[in-house]
Amino acid sequence: MQSQDFDLAILGGGPVGSALALLLARLSPQPARIVLLQTETASLYGHRPELDPRVLAINHGSRVLLNSLGAWPQQAAFIQTIHVSQRGRLGRTVIRHHDFNVPELGCVVRYGQLYDKLTRAVGASGVQVLAGESARVTNQDASGVSLEQGARQLRAKLVIQADGLTGIRPTREYTQYALLTRARASRPRAGWAFERFTNEGPLAVLPHPEALGEQSIVWCCTPERAKALQALAPEHFSQALTETFGSRLGTLTVQAPVACVPLAMTLRPKTVDGRCVAIGNAAQTLHPVAGQGLNLGLRDAATLTIALRDWLVAPEQTPGPALQRYEQLRGPDRQLTVRLTDLLSRVFTTKATVVEHAAGLALLGMDLLPALRAPLARHLLQGLRL
Ligand SMILES: Cc1cc2nc3c(=O)[nH]c(=O)nc-3n(C[C@H](O)[C@H](O)[C@H](O)COP(=O)(O)OP(=O)(O)OC[C@H]3O[C@@H](n4cnc5c(N)ncnc54)[C@H](O)[C@@H]3O)c2cc1C
Repeated sequence: MQSQDFDLAILGGGPVGSALALLLARLSPQPARIVLLQTETASLYGHRPELDPRVLAINHGSRVLLNSLGAWPQQAAFIQTIHVSQRGRLGRTVIRHHDFNVPELGCVVRYGQLYDKLTRAVGASGVQVLAGESARVTNQDASGVSLEQGARQLRAKLVIQADGLTGIRPTREYTQYALLTRARASRPRAGWAFERFTNEGPLAVLPHPEALGEQSIVWCCTPERAKALQALAPEHFSQALTETFGSRLGTLTVQAPVACVPLAMTLRPKTVDGRCVAIGNAAQTLHPVAGQGLNLGLRDAATLTIALRDWLVAPEQTPGPALQRYEQLRGPDRQLTVRLTDLLSRVFTTKATVVEHAAGLALLGMDLLPALRAPLARHLLQGLRL
């Protein structure tokens, strides 16, 4: 069977693969020479991706990028204040938007809405989309890469893996599962997001983008506790949630089924392999604390586009130098974000009183010393630094 021939193939049309397709379509003289291969695997929750109820905290840089791509979801909740605290200890810090002279610190959007918006934008971009069975790389040589998608055979000069799968063993399996749901607060606070560290894992309470006055919950705890909590009747789950979170929003009453996701960190040591490069979750998967996975993946997509600018107009040349430049440029940000996220997810769960107390004092110190708080917050909130 004859194979279809492309300059560039993107494997996976999640938020990162789709954003990359849109960025490349702008710079390529022939967007139709780019193909996006998408399979509609069940999402994290067993739904079609556009129905995925997961919410994502989007930082300022990612918002600017998505807006410029015409892919900003219709509904977004704005975060003006972030309250970080530790359960059972004194430490806490509050980060406010005016500390950084920005109208908001970030936004919360639903994965499914963002996916839908990006998919529509890619459909209108001139990039070819081949939806169907799972696609895979079968071989690569000096001139290009061979792929297959079901019975379809393809050939591309360069392949970007954005399929969310690293194919390697996790660097760290957290002894934490994330419980995901929505809850109504009896005393809601518009524009406030909360991150509460417990000795089992962090509990995030964010404004929900679609259900006005409701909170999106990401509650990380031990696998045993997560399973026991998930099995509770809604009123008992709500009680446990309110008890763990505290009374800052009054009582929390759960409004949706509780989903449960195991958590792991995976960092692909090398993102470039010949004419293939991995970005987004295919390059690294993070603990959801501090909401950095997608933000980091969008920075991968933006940097790769810049690195490929010259190659896109001369694709008969080897992409090797551009890919090496990309890998060098992304190294420090990937390492820093992955390590910081890993540290945040575990520092309050060591069961070592001294360490947890020190971490609590660090939070308190950050609250008293804006000079300490600013660099951390700037890294997590602003993101895009090209
Ligand atoms: C509970 C939770 C909360 C999170 N909260 C945040 C947050 O607040 N902020 C944030 O920035 N990040 C957050 N993240 C991380 C974020 O969801 C991911 O970083 C992001 O979805 C990565 O996007 P991606 O496109 O790289 O991969 P994915 O979203 O996994 O998309 C990959 C796509 O590739 C497709 N695909 C898979 N295999 C193939 C194949 N063989 N052929 C073709 N297509 C294929 C899939 O169907 C999918 O559409 C969270 C994650 C979790 C689990």
